Amino acid sequence: MKNYKLFFLGITLVLLFFLYQKSDEIEKKIYPIFVQQLVDIPENPKNVLRIVFTGVSTPLTPHIAQQSVVLDINGSIYVFDVGARSVANFISQGTLDAAKIKAVFITHTHSDHISGLGELILASWVRGRTNSLDVFGAGSELKNVVDGFNLAYQSDREHRVIHHGEKFLKEENGLLAPKTFEIPEEETTIYFDENISVNAFKVPHGPVQGAVGYRIICGDRSIIISGDTALMEDYTFVNGVDVLIHEGIFNEESEKVSQAAYQLGNERIGKVFEDIQDYHTNLLDSDNEPGLISKLKDLDVGILALIHIIPDKDNLIIKRALKRFIKQSPLETVVVNDNMVMLLPLNSDKIIIR
Ligand SMILES: [Zn+2]
Ligand SMILES: [Zn+2]
Repeated sequence: MKNYKLFFLGITLVLLFFLYQKSDEIEKKIYPIFVQQLVDIPENPKNVLRIVFTGVSTPLTPHIAQQSVVLDINGSIYVFDVGARSVANFISQGTLDAAKIKAVFITHTHSDHISGLGELILASWVRGRTNSLDVFGAGSELKNVVDGFNLAYQSDREHRVIHHGEKFLKEENGLLAPKTFEIPEEETTIYFDENISVNAFKVPHGPVQGAVGYRIICGDRSIIISGDTALMEDYTFVNGVDVLIHEGIFNEESEKVSQAAYQLGNERIGKVFEDIQDYHTNLLDSDNEPGLISKLKDLDVGILALIHIIPDKDNLIIKRALKRFIKQSPLETVVVNDNMVMLLPLNSDKIIIR
């Protein structure tokens, strides 16, 4: 028995010695594998519109990334809102190339839709974006946000250009370029290129100024992103859309959260959950107010994708409420999660969810 132990100890020592001698060679083979994982971004198939949900939450749901929806078509990327932590999902999933971002579209200037802009500048600039990053949004608020980020990142830009050299990092490519448009009274095209056109429409999210939703048209496919909005009167404008990405709140449950917070002596949380009920979309009908559910009858929509759920969508009570909504919904309905992907092949009506 003792001899066996000595034998195995000897073998282990010889193996360790061998690995130590060869460690340089082993490292040389391992490094390219690591780097390949970082730089190998598989190409999305041609003529497939890909939607990647890199952030689905609000300031009230701190454990998941705040709202950001990324569209990818034929090698170009378009980012709709950039909430906190969404850029980490964008980069870490290894399926999106930040250098290929063509434009950013902001629905409104609440923090949970803009706070990742600084990270997005750097991620795309360093990876090789070849011009300043166009940021579209309504009114003077958007210009303030862009000017503010450019100023906040001025030293960062200057230091990185000195460090890496102007040839590698052109300073102007590290800038955001504001592309503001008038707050539209009616749905208006605010952007188009060879891949997509983007229409903006005004949504009720007062007191926020310049809150819009976007309709994105890509060949025969289309998507609507509601942005943050109170329940609208008439939803017939969504007819024919493949994916309706809509925000939502459960007002009855939010009221109970508010009351519980007051009972526990936390007046600040109590007030926040009271105040927010008037500028988001109540999902289920309650005694004193209608919900989105009552507006969906007779609508022609491929999939309703619920995003930006208040209270926290992962809370057991809210999970139950969402199940109730899905059961009652006349439309195919999904609650989107971080990193969920939808594929919409052009010239087809297929929607593949991953
Ligand atoms: Zn929001
Ligand atoms: Zn908002």
